[in-house]
Amino acid sequence: MVRTKIIRKPVPPQRGSSSPTSPLPPHPWQFYRCRVVHSGTGEVLDEGLAVFFKGPRSFTAEDVLELHVHSGRAVVSSILGALACLPYCRLAEPGEFTRRAFSAGHMDLTQVEGIHDLINAETESQRRVALQATAGQVRDWLSELRTDIIKCLGYVEALIDFSEEDIEDGILDDVKLRTDDISRRIREQLSNFKRGEIMRSGLRLAIFGPPNVGKSSLFNFFAQREAAIVTNVPGTTRDVLEISLEIGGLPVVLADTAGIRETDDVVERIGIERAADRIDRADLSLCVLSLPEVIRVEGGVVHIDLPKELAGKTSFKHNYVLFNKRDLLPAKVADEVVAAIEKLEVEGAWAISLNTGEGTKGFIQELETILRARYNVMSEDNKESQVLIGNARHSTHLETALEFIKAFRDTCDGDVMLAAEELRYAAQSIGKITGEIGVEDVLDVIFRDFCIGK
Ligand code: GDP
Ligand code: ZN
Repeated sequence: MVRTKIIRKPVPPQRGSSSPTSPLPPHPWQFYRCRVVHSGTGEVLDEGLAVFFKGPRSFTAEDVLELHVHSGRAVVSSILGALACLPYCRLAEPGEFTRRAFSAGHMDLTQVEGIHDLINAETESQRRVALQATAGQVRDWLSELRTDIIKCLGYVEALIDFSEEDIEDGILDDVKLRTDDISRRIREQLSNFKRGEIMRSGLRLAIFGPPNVGKSSLFNFFAQREAAIVTNVPGTTRDVLEISLEIGGLPVVLADTAGIRETDDVVERIGIERAADRIDRADLSLCVLSLPEVIRVEGGVVHIDLPKELAGKTSFKHNYVLFNKRDLLPAKVADEVVAAIEKLEVEGAWAISLNTGEGTKGFIQELETILRARYNVMSEDNKESQVLIGNARHSTHLETALEFIKAFRDTCDGDVMLAAEELRYAAQSIGKITGEIGVEDVLDVIFRDFCIGK
């Protein structure tokens, strides 16, 4: 069966007859068996069902007649042809029904996008998140968030408008607590979104480091096949290589990047730029260094010097560092390296040898544990913390809102008047998600890839 919806423009009642020859079924929201007849020729085109949705209690808030007819191509085209003869009928544009519903105020932008995401949902979790959006749960969550921000703004404006004595003490402290809570709520949803994205498209793990330290060897070790070219000529990996694999039950997209060093070679420099870009976009990056190149033995004590030019690109503090080529160190030094590594200010570090396999087992086990803990793999508990955001546009505006709130917190002890602006912007960012603000910019984009008939 094919459903054909007809939106009928109101026809002025004909003089002398209280009920014009109305083709609409007498009672709304009931199925009627009907014959579809060409109004010009009187020919019967099909037999089907008709339902009349009376506005404003219809999807678009307008009167809608839905015809359920047989789906054969000839049937559908003859009916569409007959409808095209009517002066008030034309084919709907993609997403037009939803757009009309939106214009009538029947739904906000998050619900509109929910419909789109629902139609395109490929996984169970995408379906669940999209369905919540269509039901208005994202809208409700956002509108509460926005109300809370505006409340804070109200308090801050009171601070500005009235002299200090008129105002209760501690108002600003109260506002700070409230904004912290707002930030926490946003961050929770953003991290849920991030987790969902990782489950969908894989965690982006980038291998980086100077040339010739064993990056490609590590990549191959993960890939367990000769995916990257391993040579002893520095600067061999000139572009970014990628493979998809699973680490600790998590889908991972692993990237091998060009060794980062000063170079006059144009092609190599492009590779290094791509490497830097990939490291920026990675969820997690793993720096590989060659142990013999970074250790210094002074008075019998082993010191490790992390290369500065790399630290400039990406702070070591938030990185995992893999010290490779442990086999090249004398046994005594190799043992002391462990103590030196523990002193480093890094997220995690291991000393291994990709050639002999020393330390690789422990490294993989710990990496699995880290990934599972950080990006957990939706455990049953996690499902409870309701995932609301499944749409990249929403997460972008939420991130912006979070930045404005942070700016407010950073400046509110100084010039409150300026700080208040940040809260206003934060509220605006939320309003952009639901379509209360700046809606014209996004409508065409959103409806462009909607399917016809929705
Ligand atoms: P990349 O330039 O960082 O990608 O480094 P490669 O993976 O291409 O390795 C550079 C050289 O180091 C190659 O000759 C490897 O065989 C060698 N190599 C890699 N891992 C080890 C290791 O654990 N010990 C030793 N001795 N050599 C290694
Ligand atoms: Zn390489």
